[in-house]
Amino acid sequence: MIMKYIDMHCDTLSIGLAQHKETITKLENSMADIDRLYQAGNGAQFFAMFVPQRDMPKWYGMEEMPEHEVLLQMMSDTFWETIKENENRMAFAQSYEKMQENLREGKLSAFLTMENGFAVRGKMENLKKFHEMGVGLITLTWNDPNCFGQNHSMDRTLMQMGLTDFGKEAVRYMNELGMIVDVSHLSDGGFYDVAEFSKKPFVASHSNCRELSPATRNLTDDMIRVLANKGGVAGINFEPTFLNWNQEDIHSRVSRMCDHVEHFIKIGGEECVGIGTDFDGIGGKFEIHDCTKMDLFFEELHRRKISDRVIEKIAFSNVARVIKESMKASEKCMV
Ligand SMILES: [Zn+2]
Repeated sequence: MIMKYIDMHCDTLSIGLAQHKETITKLENSMADIDRLYQAGNGAQFFAMFVPQRDMPKWYGMEEMPEHEVLLQMMSDTFWETIKENENRMAFAQSYEKMQENLREGKLSAFLTMENGFAVRGKMENLKKFHEMGVGLITLTWNDPNCFGQNHSMDRTLMQMGLTDFGKEAVRYMNELGMIVDVSHLSDGGFYDVAEFSKKPFVASHSNCRELSPATRNLTDDMIRVLANKGGVAGINFEPTFLNWNQEDIHSRVSRMCDHVEHFIKIGGEECVGIGTDFDGIGGKFEIHDCTKMDLFFEELHRRKISDRVIEKIAFSNVARVIKESMKASEKCMV
């Protein structure tokens, strides 16, 4: 069962960097390089530029950590080089219209996103700069506090802390520019601030249900309701510790992914759930070891008597709707 699907998060650009490759067309041990995505029937992939905040050269297989600006440039070079190398089968997108055009031409859409708004460094003009660079979504924090606000945490006090004044203003400006606000990795307080200050639907690009897996990266039932009421979508993450109740269990199982899908639907309705695999950013023992096995996920949803209409929404239309409502192409970034 090959389904056209949209995946809101992968870290394949980071893997490309770590393997010192100019493009991510063909990578060793990748879960979502272009060859595999094409084989999988992927309709649109969000490629995250991950910005480590603490020095973690290991992440990129480097001896020294380059400046964040340099790192971003390296990843964006890889992104654009990859599109050039695959122009017959993939194309850039920063809007719903462009994605539809790419689909009509039989091309996979490549969206550029940023994981960790740290690189914005508290300056509105940087948001504009990144939008012009092609960025269509920003994951406001990673696992440290930054100019936007507080990250998720086991510490209850920190978890209640929210966005900074800059963060609140920035959410509004992102709405205006047409960049999707992503609350994955954010604190609970930050989540509620985004819900209050965002006028547009927002996403938790790669987060699951906390009721089924206690990881602080996941959403509580109340947050799922709020997200759904705002027209937002959460993307099912394939990381074992975000899927399983037992945090020691390193198995990423298809049945558990579908449990989370069903829980999202039960709490927030059939419009609030999509896909955010986190391919190339996760570890464990996988039933879906790369994107070419995505059919296992769709088949299991089918087996559970979820209708084709709803499966299509989960795979594609829910996220497509948020792209339509919350993302706008920068006039300066017309490719
Ligand atoms: Zn992440």
